[in-house]
Amino acid sequence: MDPLAIFDASMQVFGAPGRYVQGRDLLDRVGSFVAQLGKSGVLVADAQVLPLIEARVKASCRQAGVGLEVLPFSGQLLADTALQLDQTLGAQLPEVVIAAGGGRAIDAGKALADRRGLRLVTVPTVASNDAPTSKNYVLYDEHGHLSEVRHLPYNPDFVVVDTVLLAGAPQAMFAAGLGDALSKGAEALACAQGQGLTMFMARPPRIATLIAATCHDTLLVHGAAAYDAAGSGQPTADFEFAVEAMILMAGLGFESGGLSVPHALTRGLSLLHGAAPMPHGHEVAYGLTVHHRLLGGRLPDDMVALYDHVGLPRSLRELTGRAVTTKQIEAVARAAMPVRHMLNFPRLLGLSDLVAAMTTIEAEAEASVSVS
Ligand SMILES: [Zn+2]
Repeated sequence: MDPLAIFDASMQVFGAPGRYVQGRDLLDRVGSFVAQLGKSGVLVADAQVLPLIEARVKASCRQAGVGLEVLPFSGQLLADTALQLDQTLGAQLPEVVIAAGGGRAIDAGKALADRRGLRLVTVPTVASNDAPTSKNYVLYDEHGHLSEVRHLPYNPDFVVVDTVLLAGAPQAMFAAGLGDALSKGAEALACAQGQGLTMFMARPPRIATLIAATCHDTLLVHGAAAYDAAGSGQPTADFEFAVEAMILMAGLGFESGGLSVPHALTRGLSLLHGAAPMPHGHEVAYGLTVHHRLLGGRLPDDMVALYDHVGLPRSLRELTGRAVTTKQIEAVARAAMPVRHMLNFPRLLGLSDLVAAMTTIEAEAEASVSVS
């Protein structure tokens, strides 16, 4: 049964992971968390980060009396990825999936847990998105375009956030995570004020809107200093605060609080990318400028300062690296309009509203390019 069919717009639903654990060197303690859930696990990990984590996860599982299989994951997350992982695992019957990596490997682990009905521990190795806390996972088509958002019937049992590991990940990926998280306050507020539904296909409880607002406030205070520490391998206090906002608060905020224009626009923005997809967080960051324009204002000055500090795009020119045509703007807007998050706005938006907001932003960006 569709795990969302049990909810509807007459309800407020709040979902969360069973445990969220954040601290230094937690990779060495993953096994003790897994042992709470079962005696055997399968580590689904990004093939690129596997060398960084495999020995420590194995040692901690051995110490906790947990048997462990390892399934490296690379490439796209396609509709048949879960089936392939399932077949690779064969007759082995682990009780717990440990999903480790960036967004895709974590989603691959979720897909396997969904297919086999297993317990789930997520271990983000980069703070580039808020996938680790949520029940959602995203599938792509062979061209790299987002094709489907699927839902587990439950959120992860444990989210294990090792801040030393995250502080050693590339600074550019941290900036993308900031872009994805910064929009959650505005998106949840728009959902609460509009008529649409959250990721539970229900209305948002107030606590979710408040968490998203606190995510925004935390990142305005600590985001720039956290970015400066990113890549150093040394998590500072600012870094710890920002990571909690980017993974825990952003995750709870979007799932129970709802998404709006910035995430709806990501469906259309994938039409603009060339061979390499643009980081999701950059697309969302641009989408937030459109969101503010639709609300009748501009991105506030403190947000502009943070965008500029970490290198997030405020126009399509900055996002794609080149001028875009009116035709391209219309194509992006047309692809975004049917996304249900568009209903999460204080007023009903039409295609012409979206095109006008995007066109104005681009005209101002072009004007500032020709002045400088
Ligand atoms: Zn996102």
